[in-house]
Amino acid sequence: MQTQQHQDLGWIDNIGIEIKEQVVELAPELIELSHTIYNNPELKFEEFQAASALEKLLAKKGFDIKSGICGMKTAFRAERSFGKGGPTIGIFCEYDALADIGHACGHNIIATSGAGAAIAALQWLEKQPVVNGRIIVLGSPGEEGGGGKVHLINGGELKDIDAMVMVHPFGYDVIEMPNLSRIALDVEFLGKSSHASSAPEQGLNALDAATLMLVAIGLLRQQLRPDSRVHAVVVDGGQAVNIIPERSRVKILIRSPDDDYLQKRLYRAICDCAQGSAIATGTTVQISEAAPLYQSIKSNLILSQIAVKAFGVIGRKMNWSPTSPSGDIKIANANAGSTDMGNVTRVLPAIHPYICLEEGLDLHTRQFQKAAGSQSGDKAAIDAASALGTIICSLIKDPELVNKAKQEFDNNKN
Ligand SMILES: [Zn+2]
Ligand SMILES: [Zn+2]
Repeated sequence: MQTQQHQDLGWIDNIGIEIKEQVVELAPELIELSHTIYNNPELKFEEFQAASALEKLLAKKGFDIKSGICGMKTAFRAERSFGKGGPTIGIFCEYDALADIGHACGHNIIATSGAGAAIAALQWLEKQPVVNGRIIVLGSPGEEGGGGKVHLINGGELKDIDAMVMVHPFGYDVIEMPNLSRIALDVEFLGKSSHASSAPEQGLNALDAATLMLVAIGLLRQQLRPDSRVHAVVVDGGQAVNIIPERSRVKILIRSPDDDYLQKRLYRAICDCAQGSAIATGTTVQISEAAPLYQSIKSNLILSQIAVKAFGVIGRKMNWSPTSPSGDIKIANANAGSTDMGNVTRVLPAIHPYICLEEGLDLHTRQFQKAAGSQSGDKAAIDAASALGTIICSLIKDPELVNKAKQEFDNNKN
């Protein structure tokens, strides 16, 4: 764990107070945006309404918009420069929902806070007598399994950005959560159909193969590191009850904080479980990666320190990490999931702090989904917009902080 070093960041308070006032003025428009996204939950890469609402608001406030970037129809770039040169600070907006449980990850709050921060920062920077810098909002679709940010990285969208920021809602205020690296697998077994009663002996049962594989994975868990995760759902378990299933499909996510362990041990072991089950049932198996690899988050101390300060202005006392609560709360769920923001933190200085929606809530639950559209969701979005806006303006105002963040990133590259 990183230790906090002293940085004289007292001056950020004044920026924070002014940004907060700016965000309060914008609040009705921002809350409307959040509710529009919340009430129209769209799955990965189908977030047309959300992307359009965001682009519309950002264009209205003075950003230049480029839609449908890096081969993703629902990705966008919104940009605005001030003066000449200076730091370029990027903000991510996520806006995809989950199947069945809508905005149970609260991405409507991420989108709203990102756009709100960018607009408030633009309005604040416009009032400064001398300012050089650039704000870039990247609309990153498909975070829930699609790796939208990986496509943005590969498409070169981050090449001219010095630091990236965003905020994710959660059940606690935390600066750094231990995210896990993740591989998404799609396993398909192919067998042979036959009548399940009159000629079962002529079939090769693909569902049996899937069942065996899940049992093998269950047994394997005893030999796995406790900080790793394997979880699966059967998305195709056969075609009809009176037919021996000729096809089955299982989606599996495997995760670990250790990239080497994930790719060398865990990935191979899961593939062996699948291959072994195919042999035992006489079926064939195809294993493919359903999404880009998500990497765990590498934090940036300088940016985190600025974030602690910026959240402090809006009255949020951030916990540095789940294992070292600085406030009175005890964070029960110290493990997070995985995010494509992890990949971003490997290519440039970036932060992914968590803002409390309602204390103790877990992500991807019906309770979280309810809260994301409630008044506490609105408050989280407004607070996060203030904090993010403050971070952006502080970095543009003091390029030396950006240099320090980059230096830290370079020093910790390997
Ligand atoms: Zn999620
Ligand atoms: Zn999320």
